[in-house]
Amino acid sequence: MAFHGAGRQTVGDLFPGSELGHKYFCVNSSCGAPSTGLSATPCLTGPTAPAGTPRHPTALGGSAGGGAAVPQPYSNPASEVPSPAEMEPDRPIGYGAFGVVWAVTDPRDGRKVALKKMPNVFQNLVSCKRVFRELRMLCFFKHDNVLSALDILQPPQIDCFEEIYVITELMQSDLHKVIVSPQPLTTDHIKVFLYQILRGLKYLHSAGILHRDIKPGNLLVNSNCLLKICDFGLARVEEPDPSRHMTQEVVTQYYRAPEVLMGCRHYGSAIDVWSVGCIFAELLGRRILFQAQSPIQQLDLITDLLGTPPLSALSAACEGAKAHILRGPHKPPSLSVLYMLSDGATHEAVHLLCRMLVFDPTKRISGSDALSHPYLDEGRLRYHTCMCQCCYSVPSGRVYTRDFEPVAERPFSHSYENSMLSVWQGKELIHRFITEHQQGKRVPLCINPQSAAFKTFIRSTAWHSSKVSRKEER
Ligand SMILES: [Zn+2]
Repeated sequence: MAFHGAGRQTVGDLFPGSELGHKYFCVNSSCGAPSTGLSATPCLTGPTAPAGTPRHPTALGGSAGGGAAVPQPYSNPASEVPSPAEMEPDRPIGYGAFGVVWAVTDPRDGRKVALKKMPNVFQNLVSCKRVFRELRMLCFFKHDNVLSALDILQPPQIDCFEEIYVITELMQSDLHKVIVSPQPLTTDHIKVFLYQILRGLKYLHSAGILHRDIKPGNLLVNSNCLLKICDFGLARVEEPDPSRHMTQEVVTQYYRAPEVLMGCRHYGSAIDVWSVGCIFAELLGRRILFQAQSPIQQLDLITDLLGTPPLSALSAACEGAKAHILRGPHKPPSLSVLYMLSDGATHEAVHLLCRMLVFDPTKRISGSDALSHPYLDEGRLRYHTCMCQCCYSVPSGRVYTRDFEPVAERPFSHSYENSMLSVWQGKELIHRFITEHQQGKRVPLCINPQSAAFKTFIRSTAWHSSKVSRKEER
């Protein structure tokens, strides 16, 4: 296995010696324990805190010279890379909604990265469009709290082109694993996580993109508390025309907004904000806020907390959902139970939570406005004091960026989808897109099909692909 001890990611402070099954974290093949190969440098090299002290995000980011905790610039001159374009996959580390992720070593610079295989791309026109959309989004994103493509592996000749491999930054864990772990989760952690989720979401929404599957497992985190939104398999561009129908098959049930549960045919970015509200409550209470067995029960749990919604909030609901709510007893709101989530559920925290968990999507706070809530002031300060890449330190102090929460430079365009009329045409478009995307950049990489690791990779992905395609058929 290709560990060179040069991985620049660090492990340890938030999840010291943790047994978390890391989604985006290479696992040592011999024992199944978290690899030490990835973790050459401990994050905290300054004054050491006593063992067991909950780490403050400030300390987490405070590595000597800022080198270990802050991701390094990712470019090596091609002249330094004499090795053949070959990479050996190390281990599978995660299975997303549509694809398999491996932790691999980039032979050009020895850096550990995540390699995602997008399978079944050319099965039909729908999957072709879905994968191309995700690929284009990954290449479009330029934001520290949104996972983006670092590279795409060179495709073979178009006749042999069946799969797409994307390289992204390797993250060590995700918020779901953090929440269910015994690791301490302080108010400072929650604030800095929530700040980054909303910061990334503001950027996505400003580009006109709905994520549609915001859940803790899709929020990758590093030991320095850096967070990135990932998995754009269900993401789409916002639909401005309210008469156009949108699919209801989105968002993992526990995080699904009431308007989607009630069968509204049109929805917007507010569905992502609802999901973030559920995650905020889950961070505070360390358990899923609305954990129901069925969509109807999910709606019941929501109305138990928020009370029976006013008729005006039901206007877009389908008849069945409307009848279900009106048939039931009138429920008063019981929002005060949110104070019992944990000691961290202060008045300020509950106030913000109640602005996100609003039944009527038109009255729900936007991601952008939520960032202005005073609860997030400390998270913003902490993030830009020692975690971000947009501000920097000079001997006299910190030089802050002018725009703490930047928006996208332009909306994400999906007009290309209209010109994709057949699978073959889609294949040509994607092939051209990848080839043009790579031109003039780094030494192109491709899979080494002779390597033993690749054979394992193929086996695991083939197994998973059949599972995914069965799921897609439902
Ligand atoms: Zn900054």
